[in-house]
Amino acid sequence: MGNRDAELTEKILSLKKRRNAVFLAHNYQLGEVQNIADFVGDSLELSQNAAKTDANVIVFCGVHFMAEIASILCPDRIVLLPDINAGCPMADMVTAKRLKERKQKFPSAAVVCYINSSAEVKAESNVCCTSANAVKVIESLDTEEILFVPDQYLGHYVSTKTGKKMILWPGFCPTHLRIRPEDLTRLRQEYPQAKVVVHPECRPEVINLADEVLSTGGICRYARRENITQMIVGTEIGIIHRLRKENPGKRFIPASEQAICPRMKLITLEKILWSLEEMTPQVKVPEEIRLKAKLAVDRMLQIGRAE
Ligand code: SF4
Repeated sequence: MGNRDAELTEKILSLKKRRNAVFLAHNYQLGEVQNIADFVGDSLELSQNAAKTDANVIVFCGVHFMAEIASILCPDRIVLLPDINAGCPMADMVTAKRLKERKQKFPSAAVVCYINSSAEVKAESNVCCTSANAVKVIESLDTEEILFVPDQYLGHYVSTKTGKKMILWPGFCPTHLRIRPEDLTRLRQEYPQAKVVVHPECRPEVINLADEVLSTGGICRYARRENITQMIVGTEIGIIHRLRKENPGKRFIPASEQAICPRMKLITLEKILWSLEEMTPQVKVPEEIRLKAKLAVDRMLQIGRAE
């Protein structure tokens, strides 16, 4: 750590204590942000942690919908998102208005929203899911048809695993689309011993070439297995920091150096310090939306993790 980062970290940690704050960071965050977090994890793990915390302030080092989940689950806490522009482009691909219109066309379908969606969209859904439990959530539903928003690729992957009829929304993650099948083919030749692990937000052509399809939390657990010494990692490259930190001596190769989520990288140490000093920007879901969205999130949390 450089002198500047060390100084910043010291200031942040002392202010964090004064404010009684907890730092929750997604696996895609910058390495220096992951290093000061109380907990680093995937969307499901972060939601579970937010639900348990007794801190007064939750500093969410992730993107906007994640901070909304903290607000949905902990309405009496202050939730800070150190850069309010850190939104998820995939989450923005569906709005509550458009979802309501779509629901009218499929009145008997259960609506399942990926956690990467706004609180308003969750409020219009029967149940929420993450990539760690999507298959389990869909299997738990007894309806014939499922309207799934917004990620068409996760939806498609789940339909192949469950055999359910899924009506897909045309959303996608621009970062995961940067991972190409030819990247995996080339890297497999270069690292024949390596396991290829990809996130279900990847395209089917990429998923078909993988040994395992896992959420980021699942990828971290898989990497700890004794028999894994080299891994080609098909997701946002921020996770490589955590994998290397937790598994010294093992080799982790990003499937694509281009798989960077610019919104995740908006959260920096400087912004965390400023956010804690000014206690802004705060994310607060309006109560009427929160209560409806909470039903969808609570149903998911009861189902838990599948991996
Ligand atoms: S990696 Fe993709 S899904 Fe995740 S926050 Fe970035 S754009 Fe959204």
